[in-house]
Amino acid sequence: MDGPVSTVEASDAVAELAARTAAFVRDVVIPAEPRDRSEHGVDDALRAELQDAARAAGVFAPQVPVDLGGHGLDVRGQARVFEEAGYSLLGPQALNCAAPDEGNMHLLEVVATPAQRERYLRPLAAGETRSCFAMTEPPPGAGADPSMLRTTATRVDGGWRIDGRKRFITGAEGAAFVICMARTGERIERDEGATMLLVDAGNPGWRIERVMEMSDRAFPGGHAELVFENCVVPDEAILGEVGLGYRYAQVRLAPARLTHCMRWLGLARRAQDLALDYVADREAFGAPLGELGMAQKLIAESVIDIETSRALIWRAACALDAGEPARHETSVAKAHVAEAVNRVVDRAVQLSGGWGVSTEGPLGRYLAEVRPFRIYDGPTETHLWAIARRALRKRARARGDV
Ligand SMILES: Cc1cc2nc3c(=O)[nH]c(=O)nc-3n(C[C@H](O)[C@H](O)[C@H](O)COP(=O)(O)OP(=O)(O)OC[C@H]3O[C@@H](n4cnc5c(N)ncnc54)[C@H](O)[C@@H]3O)c2cc1C
Repeated sequence: MDGPVSTVEASDAVAELAARTAAFVRDVVIPAEPRDRSEHGVDDALRAELQDAARAAGVFAPQVPVDLGGHGLDVRGQARVFEEAGYSLLGPQALNCAAPDEGNMHLLEVVATPAQRERYLRPLAAGETRSCFAMTEPPPGAGADPSMLRTTATRVDGGWRIDGRKRFITGAEGAAFVICMARTGERIERDEGATMLLVDAGNPGWRIERVMEMSDRAFPGGHAELVFENCVVPDEAILGEVGLGYRYAQVRLAPARLTHCMRWLGLARRAQDLALDYVADREAFGAPLGELGMAQKLIAESVIDIETSRALIWRAACALDAGEPARHETSVAKAHVAEAVNRVVDRAVQLSGGWGVSTEGPLGRYLAEVRPFRIYDGPTETHLWAIARRALRKRARARGDV
């Protein structure tokens, strides 16, 4: 394989990799699930063990460029394979295609200098390091509205000084570096005024204040609050150009929110399968639950949610593969899939009765894991707001109002 695998040109290769990934998840990853007991994300030893197994099975790093040791899948290929990986919460960790590293790899691939690529991307792609992406801040800083960014990067002799506070930063604990978004302009407008900086874990100017208590625990290192205080980095730490951080954030966010959709769709499918097994085996009122009309309604609604999610992911993947920014397509997909996945898991819990909410079964946990997806990568309401504004603008143009 010496170039990116296009799903159109090489659908057999992609289908084969997806099938091998499904088998790997079934035979190796799912049996390891009972060992995933850490409070703040899967522990690094189990992650490393599963990554070794994924290398041996030839399914490691599906999205990573071929010259960095991966399979070089395009976005449509990722849609097929990431869904299979997501069938277990540990699957994306095993394949090194989990957030936030997967999004950071893509960002570095597009924006990093050759030296940054060697120093940060290569070990990340190989699974030797982890990383994090620090944008969100406590009020009154950036949250759903990224233009409220308060963390600053100020020019100093020989580099930049970063000051500010970040929170909910996934994987900060144990990360080799953080990609920090900081304000470098007086005003943030038209995607300008902020800059991304690469800050090494060993830099004494930043620290993890605390790993936060959250409802989910699927991400290594959990989610942390960070403090940057007089944190000095050299000029080489600038990722891309000064002032263009928000443009690069779009480079990261559009595909990253879509790959989240792919992985969580896999987990929704798993939840549906567990519910289907339950209603086939469990009898009530003289018949298996699956023969009762209202249970069938829940099942059918979940089938529709899964299939519409897959279709919207595919449409956005096609747009990204065509080189379009796909802001609209990824936003529509994210808003739909985040809600749909939550509905599917919730219905699976309902169909499974008390076992559904028991922490002795997996479904109660899945509910806690998928719930934050309605908030990160843009809360549903923020996406709906943007989608509605685009529709209104488009109609106004068509009417000649603007
Ligand atoms: C598990 C998890 C992991 C995360 N990981 C990271 C990470 O690695 N790096 C990082 O930088 N951030 C991360 N985040 C932060 C995440 O991106 C933010 O939580 C998100 O952007 C929302 O910001 P906020 O929490 O400050 O909510 P706020 O900005 O306070 O928004 C609160 C609510 O307001 C509503 N709202 C927002 N916009 C609109 C609108 N236009 N119209 C109507 N209502 C609206 C929504 O319901 C929203 O949930 C993570 C969050 C979670 C929960």
